[in-house]
Amino acid sequence: MKTLNIGLCGSGNVGLSFIDVIHSNREKILKKYGIELNISVIGVRKGKIENKDFAGEIEKDILKVPLRDDVDVVVELIGGTDVSFELAMNALKNNKHFVTANKALMATKGKALYLEASKRNLHIGLEASVAGGIPIIRTLRDGLISNDVNWFAGILNGTSNFIFSKMKSEKKSFSDSLKLAQELGFAESDPSFDINGTDAAQKTSILSLISFAADISASDVYFEGIEHIDSQDMEYGEQLGFILKPISIGRNSSSGISMGSFPAFIKKEEILASINNESNAVEINTKNLNSTAFSGPGAGGYPTACSVLNDILDIGQGKIFDYSKLLNKQKVLDFNSYISSRYLKIMIKDEMGAVADVSSLIAKKKLSIDNLIQKDQDKDNELVPLVIVLGASQEKIVQELIEDLSKLAIVEGNVKHIRIFSP
Ligand code: NAP
Repeated sequence: MKTLNIGLCGSGNVGLSFIDVIHSNREKILKKYGIELNISVIGVRKGKIENKDFAGEIEKDILKVPLRDDVDVVVELIGGTDVSFELAMNALKNNKHFVTANKALMATKGKALYLEASKRNLHIGLEASVAGGIPIIRTLRDGLISNDVNWFAGILNGTSNFIFSKMKSEKKSFSDSLKLAQELGFAESDPSFDINGTDAAQKTSILSLISFAADISASDVYFEGIEHIDSQDMEYGEQLGFILKPISIGRNSSSGISMGSFPAFIKKEEILASINNESNAVEINTKNLNSTAFSGPGAGGYPTACSVLNDILDIGQGKIFDYSKLLNKQKVLDFNSYISSRYLKIMIKDEMGAVADVSSLIAKKKLSIDNLIQKDQDKDNELVPLVIVLGASQEKIVQELIEDLSKLAIVEGNVKHIRIFSP
């Protein structure tokens, strides 16, 4: 039998769930793996925790947790990137393994931690940092080792997916859907990183690092928020056979890696189109397997705590993975070269030749029109919504086209642009 002593830092939503998950699985893990899990200390700045099953010590200064002899693994569940980074470095420099659920930390400062862990043959566990309870990191890292990943596509932000799902199924407005997500505890009290795409981009960078063995950090990922989406676009998209989803993609080709997180239409029959509410999913396409997909709870205290426990079991079984080996320089493509079909909605004045003006600008850019629908006149402003589906087109050209369209006298307001993702 082997004992693994855990120093837990943070006793919030995930931290408290983690204590329960350890408590309820301790016996089984001892029997199955011969590993005794023991939370010897919890770092809690307020000095107490509400959990009757915890009989260990409380440490008010969390930075002291890694210094203790009765700690083999430091589990960081505090969030943020400053104190958590200091804690992680302290842990590694004191020869403790490090496990975290913190995507912001790993996506922005992971490299320094991987290199430090490598020097000391220590494990970093980050399963819980992407897609909560879905075991996606270990799947990409170990399960698909004989497969080169061509691309992955995921729904990695539960809050955004929840908002889109409610806008679609219950015809709620964006702000009412967000409010409901907050009331139900899916969205943070400050949901900016969920809404503006930062959260999904950070997770995309972590998945890309592991999928493509490439030195990638959050700043390499193009991202766009979901605030500009309105229910009219969702409705028009549906009439064309699409569902709107917050999509994150990573694609590896001979010319380089392209990555992005943005709201996108996808065909109703695609796997990701059926992932609703706060659920997450990742579809992975590889050379030998073609597509394989995983879905489930992408957040929540218990699902996330289960992933933390998986990492601890790896350590208990001596499975040390050196993430620094993945930090290979690879070409990251400028998002301007990204190619996809596009949905454009242009509000035009109801004048003779207006549609012809728009079409001729599109033709000038040598872009193809897959569909063009002139909707009924908007009663409020007497403008006519013109919905256009462009065939596969390059980001840069489309952005130029949007700029040119906006300058037309018959066009009012912003041209709405939503990418259409097809695997
Ligand atoms: P939370 O409920 O806000 O809990 C955070 C805990 O960390 C609190 O106990 C807080 O203490 C403590 N803390 C924060 N800063 C600290 C500091 N400087 N020193 C000492 N303690 C500090 O957060 P959470 O939802 O459990 O999330 C924890 C981590 O898991 C985050 O990185 C998050 O991104 C990640 N995660 C969460 C979920 C989820 O569903 N919640 C899912 C996946 C990943 P006080 O109580 O004193 O403020």
